[in-house]
Amino acid sequence: MGKIICLANQKGGVGKTTTAINVAASFAAMEYKTLLVDTDPQANATSGVGIDPKTVEASIYSCMIGEVEDAKEIILETEFPNLHLIPSSDDLIGAEVELVDMANRETLMRKPLVPLADDYDFIILDCSPSLGLVTVNALAAADSVIVPVQCEYFALEGLAKLLNTIRIVQKGLNKTLEIEGILLTMYDKRLNLSNQVIDEVKGHFQDYVFDTLIHRNTRLSEAPSFGMPVLAFDAKCKGAINYLNFAKEILKQNQLPITKAHALVQ
Ligand code: ADP
Ligand code: MG
Repeated sequence: MGKIICLANQKGGVGKTTTAINVAASFAAMEYKTLLVDTDPQANATSGVGIDPKTVEASIYSCMIGEVEDAKEIILETEFPNLHLIPSSDDLIGAEVELVDMANRETLMRKPLVPLADDYDFIILDCSPSLGLVTVNALAAADSVIVPVQCEYFALEGLAKLLNTIRIVQKGLNKTLEIEGILLTMYDKRLNLSNQVIDEVKGHFQDYVFDTLIHRNTRLSEAPSFGMPVLAFDAKCKGAINYLNFAKEILKQNQLPITKAHALVQ
């Protein structure tokens, strides 16, 4: 059974999509079969792995509302080995409004996704910057959640609200949801502020903060415009190394070997 991990933070621009793409690509590079699911109508995770959102016909929303029976039908292969995608499409734009009147409106994503966990080692859900119904659906379908936090002013702003939402989901919709951890992103060692933010976040949430820090690295912001995870764009840059280390930290935390293929040949 694969693990479903959701990237959530209702703040925009904190590194959700960058993390979703690059952690998924890092798992894939270590031979873990990985499915990236783009649940954000902005479709940045879709274009970031080389799929043109304009060519896409169906997203996970089509499965949530029963328009597509089997989520396998809408899975796309990417150019990158072991990395598949359920893309974002325009139907996600109206999803928040349309879901409001539906029965089980908070748990519709679980049904199509859970069977896919038999086919993949990891399913990574990229969420939009909101705590709306689509994000709640992702939290309700996930085994764990990663919260990216940007090393910036007001880093903690909204975090209490997000953790509260996670707690509510844990009490009702998804009792087994775990917090995989808080990931500090866009760290700049030249800035005192970055270090202050780390101290502050660790002061409040020590147990949850991952050891790996994602540094600010322009290669990470350039790679998506070439439709590539950073590992394919520039495998030696700091951003690629940071995300590979982060993926390894998650593997370790889940008692999984660094390379699946390696484990198989042993
Ligand atoms: P979110 O999905 O939370 O809105 P993104 O992952 O899209 O955030 O990141 C916001 C912007 O910051 C994007 O332009 C992205 O390329 C850039 N970015 C993200 N992480 C880094 C980083 N570590 N270094 C430099 N730029 C980054
Ligand atoms: Mg995003």
